[in-house]
Amino acid sequence: DATLSEVDPDVAAAVAAELGRQRDTLEMIASENFTSRAVLEAQGSVLTNKYAEGYPGRRYYGGCEYVDVVEQLAIDRAKALFGAEHANVQPHAGAQANTAVYFALLSPGDTILGLDLAHGGHLTHGMRLNYSGKVLNAVAYHVRDSDGLVDMDEVAALAKEHRPKMIVAGWSAYPRQLDFAAFRAVADEVGALLLVDMAHFAGLVAAGLHPNPVPFADVVTTTTHKTLCGPRGGLILAREEYGKKINSAVFPGLQGGPLEHVIAAKAVALKQAGEPAFRERQQRTVAGARILAERLGRADMAEAGVKVLTGGTDVHLVLVDLVGSQLDGRQAEDRLHEVGITVNRNAVPNDPRPPMVTSGLRIGTPALATRGFTEADFAEVSDIVAAALLPEFDAAALRGRVAALTAKHPLYPGL
Ligand code: PLP
Repeated sequence: DATLSEVDPDVAAAVAAELGRQRDTLEMIASENFTSRAVLEAQGSVLTNKYAEGYPGRRYYGGCEYVDVVEQLAIDRAKALFGAEHANVQPHAGAQANTAVYFALLSPGDTILGLDLAHGGHLTHGMRLNYSGKVLNAVAYHVRDSDGLVDMDEVAALAKEHRPKMIVAGWSAYPRQLDFAAFRAVADEVGALLLVDMAHFAGLVAAGLHPNPVPFADVVTTTTHKTLCGPRGGLILAREEYGKKINSAVFPGLQGGPLEHVIAAKAVALKQAGEPAFRERQQRTVAGARILAERLGRADMAEAGVKVLTGGTDVHLVLVDLVGSQLDGRQAEDRLHEVGITVNRNAVPNDPRPPMVTSGLRIGTPALATRGFTEADFAEVSDIVAAALLPEFDAAALRGRVAALTAKHPLYPGL
């Protein structure tokens, strides 16, 4: 049988170029990571050929004996890793996981209370053009102007005023830990369900470096491809009492055949996430983000109008506020791109600029930690990022320093 490069040299060339890009640049998009060779192998396997509508032991197709093994392993590992009563590993992505939870437990027109997209929430937490904002009545809470932290007084006040059926705690751009006990207390006070979307910080939870939301929440969703370092996909964890409704909302409610090759890769990633090497890597992830926040918080940056939101980080990312800088978010993203560092521009709370421009950056450390970066390497990366955001910058010199780091930590050797 012919190989990819024989059948389709155009696609093969683009894939090879993407591997080169990943190898030759510093990947600092907070939601990205480099999944393991084992995960890639599972995802690229013949399991992609199999239809398996239903769940392990209860399929609508024959020949599911081996995919049943794989899916059951993924379910058992997810439950064990996070201490959950129920797991559904079939959502194709994080957005599908959240939508399935809404579909399972809410009705059209019900009220949800989630973090404003412009303050670090996700599209699926009630953004106006998303299903969650169109079909549900979405009310948003915010971060405080004074310190950039989620305002639990506002959450409690909005909950009392709007009586949501579900409160959504979780974020895509927030550098601190949420107080899950406080969210639970507000939810209990108004009789709401609590959904925690831990997509960003699931890897930190797995490593024991971040509080686990599972004991506090009715349902926890996550993606499997961010800090968790698995294949692109979604996962739902829930209390047993919601298990049937959630399974039925995923299939047949929203999806048809599960992606068993991706589920196999999820199983592998969940195994790896329980190992000591994973914990050590997450420690470097968090340490790297702290080093970056410390560097970007120094006086030379403040003089150039560059600030670190909330003054630091407890997680795998740093939010940079450029409102007072000569650079807007897009220009800062472009500058870093020019020196070989990939980040994404990001709106800051009350951003004066439009969403396509923004006045901020979101910079994450998971992918570099996976690549083997040490604290000393993160100090060097932080210096490069800082230098690129200052008015007088020498792109060629910074590109050379980036190249030294990429050469020091080869990515996917032998691939
Ligand atoms: N939830 C949160 C908090 C996220 O940050 C994201 C992705 O950015 C998602 C859900 C959606 O995940 P996906 O892009 O896999 O649909």
